[in-house]
Amino acid sequence: MVAVPDILLERLEKEGVGMALLSVVLPAYNEEMMVERAGERLGQLLKDEKIKFELIFVDDGSKDRTWSKIEEMAKRYKFIRGIHFSRNFGKEAAIFAGLAEAGGECSVVMDCDLQHPPETVIEMYRRWEEGYEVVEGIKHSRGRESLGHKASAGLFYKIMTKATGIDMSRASDFKLLDKRAVAALLDMPERNAFFRALSSWIGFKTTTVKFDVQPREAGESKWSTWSLVKYAVTNIAAFSSVPLQMVTVAGVFMFIFAVIMAVESLVRYFGGHALEGFTTVILLLLIIGSLVMMSLGIIGYYISKIYEEVKGRPRYIISRTAGIKNRTLQTED
Ligand code: UDP
Ligand code: MG
Repeated sequence: MVAVPDILLERLEKEGVGMALLSVVLPAYNEEMMVERAGERLGQLLKDEKIKFELIFVDDGSKDRTWSKIEEMAKRYKFIRGIHFSRNFGKEAAIFAGLAEAGGECSVVMDCDLQHPPETVIEMYRRWEEGYEVVEGIKHSRGRESLGHKASAGLFYKIMTKATGIDMSRASDFKLLDKRAVAALLDMPERNAFFRALSSWIGFKTTTVKFDVQPREAGESKWSTWSLVKYAVTNIAAFSSVPLQMVTVAGVFMFIFAVIMAVESLVRYFGGHALEGFTTVILLLLIIGSLVMMSLGIIGYYISKIYEEVKGRPRYIISRTAGIKNRTLQTED
């Protein structure tokens, strides 16, 4: 810890920032249209509510002007900090990087496209003051989404809910975490962390707050159908071994089927009516072959995930920071 001079402390107190009590973590990927709006809206709101705060923007390797906007803001406002990744590492990585940098007694994670309403942050904060350690944002309404997106998201969350035992259908990445919960999360050694489920998994005194997903004001959603599928597969594998058990179940069913077929064939054989069944043989071969291949694929996927974890590469690489001094990171500015 670096001692903060009294004069600086006094000034920080006056500006309503002080030793940040509430850290807001905002992952941003190609959000040049939104970061300023988010920073100013949140800044104004939190100042009006007399909450001490800091905003941590995590630029997830944006290709547009997001980072220069964040840097500009960090120069203009004391309460803004920025982290810039060396490339796109994904929203989960950005969330963890932001939490690692958060100095607050509690931290809120929210989208910087303002689809998570800033007013709800205040509501979450009040619940934290009442003594709750995790406040989950629950989607009251999902906002405008295409039919395909709705259907695939629906299916994904059904599977996730089954696999994790945690109701995921209305869950979001919009949450408040007490610093103890943040520490527990950061303590997770896994690289393939699924924030939405892990924050329930860690336990703690939890409550929920409902919010309506707002329409995106500018920019566009980063999710294509393909990336949703990838996200689903990665996170199901990260959080559950149900697919592996399904391999066993499929094996058991095939075995039962095989026994029945064997008995039937033997009966026919000894009864003097040997089967001619070329078609049956081909079909069985194909079915069994494809089942074996799929099972191998599932097992292979888990092995590749184990391989990734064993390599122990960092979750993200930070190439630049802004407004972060005397904290955990050394910066060039
Ligand atoms: N995001 C990110 N890295 C990515 C994709 C998205 O940090 O690789 C951020 C994005 O900037 C936004 C939040 O995650 O703040 C949610 O993304 P988006 O709005 O595209 O998702 P949606 O709201 O459509 O689910
Ligand atoms: Mg969004």
